[in-house]
Amino acid sequence: MPSDCLFCRIIAGQLPASQVYSDDSVVAIRDIAPQAPTHILLLSRKHIASVADVGEKDRDLLGKILAVGAELAAREGVATDGYRLVVNTGRNGGQTVDHLHVHLLGGRPMAWPPG
Ligand code: AMP
Ligand code: ZN
Repeated sequence: MPSDCLFCRIIAGQLPASQVYSDDSVVAIRDIAPQAPTHILLLSRKHIASVADVGEKDRDLLGKILAVGAELAAREGVATDGYRLVVNTGRNGGQTVDHLHVHLLGGRPMAWPPG
């Protein structure tokens, strides 16, 4: 675990977070600066810098994270009206934390294209 990685430190319990889900491969927390009434971050337990760094043996993890996102959307009561799962990747993608995560945003209408 990189000791300077924010999300690794949250997963390890070294930094506080509002955790809403945890299993052997995925941890979900509420975003500290929510951009929608529901804004959850789905984190891979394993440190992977971004979706661009997912290797062959970790591909199933991507499907798992999306499935957990759908499960949490239903649990949060935003599934019927719809929601967005977002993976910011790299500088132009707007990624600010280099640890694989998917945003679950819901509870309001979303614009397209994104800014
Ligand atoms: P991204 O910009 O896609 O890399 O997403 C990083 C997200 O992490 C942003 O939406 C931040 O608001 C969020 N964030 C940063 N620090 C924390 C923290 N300590 N706890 C929860 N979310 C955080
Ligand atoms: Zn990490």
